[in-house]
Amino acid sequence: MREQKATNVTWRAHKVTREERESLLEQKGVVLWFTGLSGSGKSTIANEVAYKLHSMKKLSYILDGDNIRHGLNKDLGFSPEDRAENIRRISEVANLFADAGLIAITAFISPYRKDRNFCRNLVGKGKFIEIFCKASLSTCEKRDPKGLYKKARAGIIKEFTGIDAPYEEPEHPELILHTDKETVEECTQNVLDKLKEFNII
Ligand code: ADP
Repeated sequence: MREQKATNVTWRAHKVTREERESLLEQKGVVLWFTGLSGSGKSTIANEVAYKLHSMKKLSYILDGDNIRHGLNKDLGFSPEDRAENIRRISEVANLFADAGLIAITAFISPYRKDRNFCRNLVGKGKFIEIFCKASLSTCEKRDPKGLYKKARAGIIKEFTGIDAPYEEPEHPELILHTDKETVEECTQNVLDKLKEFNII
C-alpha cells in the first residue's frame, strides 16, 4: 500500500452531509462490489442492476475494469502490487461515490481477499456489499466473451486469473450468485432483493 506523502493536510467537514444527500436522492450510498473470474458475469449483472435501478429512479454508477484501466489506472499492470494499487484506487473512488449518496457498482475480478477487505474496511459496515459471481473456471472459459482465456492458454496474456494467477474466493460475501445455474434475470433480482434487505432502496 502507498504511504501518506503529503503532510499539513486536514480533513474538512462540509456543510451538506451525506445524510442530506441521501435524503435528497431517496436512497442510501453503498458500494456493490462484484468479484469473480473473468467471464463469471460481473459486468453483465452490474449493467442489468444499474438498468433496473435507473428505471426505479435510483442513481447508480458503474466502475468497471477496462474503463478504469484506460484512465485513472492506466499506469498499472497485472502484478500483485499493481493489482493491489488498482483496487486501492478503485476503492477510494467507489467510497467517494457512496459518500455522494450513489449506489457505486464495481465490476473487477479483484482476485485477492486482502484487497477486497481493504475496501470493506474503508467503506464500513452495512455500506459494503460483496457479491461473488460464482461460476467454474471451465464455464467461464467456455463463455470466454472477450477471447481472453484463449489468449491466456496460448501464452499471449500472462498472469491471467484462473490460468497462471490465483483467485481467492470470498469467505463471507453478502451474496453469492451462481451464474452457471441461475439466469441473468434471477441474479439481477437477487441483487435488488439484497439492496432492499440492507435498506438501501
Ligand atoms: P465478467 O464481467 O465477469 O468478465 P461478463 O459479464 O463480461 O463477465 O461475461 C459473462 C458472460 O456470460 C456474458 O456473455 C453473459 O451473457 C454470459 N452469462 C450467461 N449466464 C449468465 C448469468 N447467469 N449471469 C451473468 N452472465 C451470464
